[in-house]
Amino acid sequence: MVTGDASYIKKINRSFLISKIIEHGFISRAELSKITGLNKATISVQVADLLNEELIIETQQEHNNLGRRPIMLSLNRKAGYALGIDLDYKHITFTLSDLLGSPLSTEIVDLNTSDYDEILELLVKYIKDFQDKCTDSRYGIVGIVIGVHGTVTEDEVIKFVPRHNWHNKDLKSDIEAKAGISPYIKNNANLCAFAEQVYKHHHSENLLCVSLYSGIGLGIMINGELYEGYHGFAGEMGHMIIVPNGRPCNCGNKGCWEQYSSESTFFKQLSEKQNIDDIDYTDIQKRLNDKDSTFSEEMEEFINYLSIGLNNIINLHNPATIVLNSELLKMNEGALDEIKGNLTSSVSSFEELLISDFGKEATVMGACSLAIKNFLNIPELKLSIDDQDLPKLTVDVPV
Ligand SMILES: [Zn+2]
Repeated sequence: MVTGDASYIKKINRSFLISKIIEHGFISRAELSKITGLNKATISVQVADLLNEELIIETQQEHNNLGRRPIMLSLNRKAGYALGIDLDYKHITFTLSDLLGSPLSTEIVDLNTSDYDEILELLVKYIKDFQDKCTDSRYGIVGIVIGVHGTVTEDEVIKFVPRHNWHNKDLKSDIEAKAGISPYIKNNANLCAFAEQVYKHHHSENLLCVSLYSGIGLGIMINGELYEGYHGFAGEMGHMIIVPNGRPCNCGNKGCWEQYSSESTFFKQLSEKQNIDDIDYTDIQKRLNDKDSTFSEEMEEFINYLSIGLNNIINLHNPATIVLNSELLKMNEGALDEIKGNLTSSVSSFEELLISDFGKEATVMGACSLAIKNFLNIPELKLSIDDQDLPKLTVDVPV
């Protein structure tokens, strides 16, 4: 039983109610009382507060039943906006969403530099522009989450971003000082896992999301919460050694998983074998259609090593859902069955293995939804999205 003072209980009830209103889309006070077990007086006071704060709105449902039409409550999706940012190597993607996590606009900025100060100025400029565009709503921008492709400490300080060669950068404080708003800084693989759980796999509280692009990133959801580890660095499974004394990795070890099963490795190996410099996803599609033999061999090796690594992380976590975020696997229809065929150990146990519908959009969508969850201060967030509404991002060949 939860005990605490009255204001604490009021807060808990409030976040529980907001979660339920979002989950149901439209719900009456009577139904809320029924599903939450809270009495009608409590519901009435809480709903009045939320209406005052313009966080929810009332609508009268249209139907033909006799008697009064119930007044339905729903989240006021226009009360504010969330800004999700994917700070990648060659681009920064900014996606603005409403409070139900539907993307409203996306801007992609090319990056030709790794200079921290230049990138900081760029981020501040765009954040300010978005703030100016969002003044028409009650709360404006309710939160900003930035996904970085590197390690982030539990205090949200960037520890290391390999592609930009950044060490120990306090981007959170630097943006706060210049833009007057403190963003959340998160590892991109964690945001991908969060997006999968919030938008796609509501039923799955134990979910792993493996992103296979320039490296391998693992986002871990345990009991519906992101698991980030003691210092914040959990999920660096790309550096799990799967080949003793294998290919050298820039982490200092040899034989790391991402030297065998990241898409950048796949492209590199294929280019070397065929002596071609710039293979892109269009070439890959063509080779796939033509059943090119070098391509097929390379793909088989990629899938074999991928399966070895997956076997290991499945045994560590016993997840319900594993989502693979990879353009290469998305294009290659039979790949998923081949991977499943390799995961036959009698001790490995998981419920489902899937390929992400999100692809590159996962980071910004995870970022927007995390900003919403933090703003509403709710224990769980379940959103839905039509894939047609996702921002269409170009997928660069990972290097
Ligand atoms: Zn490594």
